[in-house]
Amino acid sequence: MKSPKIVLLGPPGAGKGTQGSLISGYFEIAHITTGNALRINRDLKTEYGTPRSYMDRGELVPDSIVNEIVEVEIKKVGGFVLDGYPRNKEQAEYLSTIAEIDKVIYLHVANEELIKRLSGRRVCPSCSENYHIEFRPPVRNGKCDSCGDKLIQRSDDEKDTILNRLRVFSEYTKPVLEYYNNREGFTKVEGRDNPEDVWESIRNIF
Ligand SMILES: [Zn+2]
Repeated sequence: MKSPKIVLLGPPGAGKGTQGSLISGYFEIAHITTGNALRINRDLKTEYGTPRSYMDRGELVPDSIVNEIVEVEIKKVGGFVLDGYPRNKEQAEYLSTIAEIDKVIYLHVANEELIKRLSGRRVCPSCSENYHIEFRPPVRNGKCDSCGDKLIQRSDDEKDTILNRLRVFSEYTKPVLEYYNNREGFTKVEGRDNPEDVWESIRNIF
């Protein structure tokens, strides 16, 4: 498939970033995340204001603006893999009016495993190096290998926040999954395995 248009869905911690990069590199297509699209277009003038006006106030950028900036990014490229969008059914419906999607890949990982992955993350506050207490532990317990600073846990990765993020995900994304479920090109991929095996399952879809 040449320059495919792909939607990659999955809960936080499912490995969307990793698989999105692999897909993007393999097909030589753009890896579009909502976060990146927002950063690039933060001063884009829309009838609802600029993304920056919301971000500066610490508010969630409304759907109508997110739709618009994703559209801007999509129109710049041929093929793409969308990561983190659509986040709800309204966005999915909007996407169907601006692009013909070839494949929708849902990376499924059980909550128990996601909690283990996310809650084990540690980061160095000085040099931003990432660690995981189980999968990528530092040589010296709790200390950064590069600079020796004491590792911390991001507030996003604390248990209560994780549970909340997962709850929000299932609440808003369930309707998205239902929306795509019976359409051609939808595939559920087991994301529990190691990244190489997940990538192989994804490649087999094409
Ligand atoms: Zn460090």
